[in-house]
Amino acid sequence: MSAFYPTMGLEIHAELLTKSKVFCTCSAEFGGTPNSRCCPVCSGMPGTLPVLNQKAVEYIIKAGYVMNCDISRFTKWDRKNYFYPDLPKAYQISQMPRPVCLAGTVKINVKGEEKVIRINRIHLEEDAGKLVHDEVNRISLADYNRCGIPLIEIVTEPDFHSSDEVIAFLEKIKLLLQYAGICDCKMEQGSIRCDVNISIAPKGSDELGTRTELKNLNSLKAIARAIEVEIERQEEVIESGERVIQETRRFNDALGETTAMRSKEDAHDYRYFPDPDIPPIIFTEEELEAIKNSIPELPEQRVERYVNSLGLKKADADIIVGDKRVCDFFDEATKSYDNPKAIANYIVGELTRRINLGEVDMDALKFTGADFARLVELLQTDKVSQSNAKIILGELVENGGSPDKIADEQDLWIKEDNDLLAKVVDEIIANNPKPVEQYKSGDQKVFGFFMGQANKALKGAASPKAIQDYLRKKLSE
Ligand code: ZN
Ligand code: MN
Repeated sequence: MSAFYPTMGLEIHAELLTKSKVFCTCSAEFGGTPNSRCCPVCSGMPGTLPVLNQKAVEYIIKAGYVMNCDISRFTKWDRKNYFYPDLPKAYQISQMPRPVCLAGTVKINVKGEEKVIRINRIHLEEDAGKLVHDEVNRISLADYNRCGIPLIEIVTEPDFHSSDEVIAFLEKIKLLLQYAGICDCKMEQGSIRCDVNISIAPKGSDELGTRTELKNLNSLKAIARAIEVEIERQEEVIESGERVIQETRRFNDALGETTAMRSKEDAHDYRYFPDPDIPPIIFTEEELEAIKNSIPELPEQRVERYVNSLGLKKADADIIVGDKRVCDFFDEATKSYDNPKAIANYIVGELTRRINLGEVDMDALKFTGADFARLVELLQTDKVSQSNAKIILGELVENGGSPDKIADEQDLWIKEDNDLLAKVVDEIIANNPKPVEQYKSGDQKVFGFFMGQANKALKGAASPKAIQDYLRKKLSE
């Protein structure tokens, strides 16, 4: 057992899903040919003037509401000055003393226990460009397409004491932002990024230790590992009689270690001052109310609706809501076949299994919710067998199409061939006198054995119900 207690706070940057950038009309979409989505404003030409994107302001207010923040009635922008080649203006337009959102709370669930994480603030700012380092030619290239994409920065209080809590919080934030339509939260594309401030102190101590900041964390797995590694490093530093230095550290996933990047700046190093180009905003109650009312159904409300109105099991509802794309897919499917429980079962049992195996990519689906619903209906009404339904789903995943057509083409319908059924089952019974004896002496478990044998031999030629009925009749003769 360690003698130290870790404490962590997070700074999360999330890119907003606006069509255009925050201070100009350039596209805010991810990617693009380098420097093809730039104009004099976002590439920092002298004399240009920014114009604030109202949609971005609307989105940060929504973010504030979904994280239970106080929304400032008066907000303004500041310049954060620093020199780096990915920032052509040499300052970032951000917010220092009057951010849009203050003092929020977000509930998380860690191993069955509920905990409230406090949000310190959320402010609106602009993203910087990207540097591409060409090791072969020993040059660095600057791509300014990302310059000026609107960002919200979510700053938490130091309320985390384990990597599990951090991951639970990030998963919750991702869901909230996705469902509210604020950010797509694609970590691999950098649309949500997280820095972790981390310190340790002797157990029982009220004071916080000196903190370091971990940067360049690009997956939840990397974040969890980086936290563990950094806690261990700080323990070793203190145990060897040295002191932890306040600095920014980079995590190297391949080596499993953190290394010093630069000594951590304090706010005064950035020479913050009010941006003279962007007027402050005063929100009216009506404006805020309208934005609040436009927030779509959030994850917790969806779980509640699925459990209370549709009768799903809580665990199934949690799995479906846990991925917004799956959840929207479920909603779509239930529109064309009114059997939410059966659809949910098949999503949880078959679709999410294939997603987890990497067979299904929800971003590039070749079939619709309606196709999926039709397949579930065929299964529910005994038109296709379980195993043939899996074949149809595999075909949908691979090539798309309609379940009915696939069943036609590959001859996958249940034919209710009663003669064949009788022939096959009679044979099985004749060939297995021992299990028949067991069944007759009251051992009901062997019934499963007969069902399995019959299913295998019939290859979907009869429905499970028909097989069951005929078997029961024959076995009790
Ligand atoms: Zn621009
Ligand atoms: Mn920031």
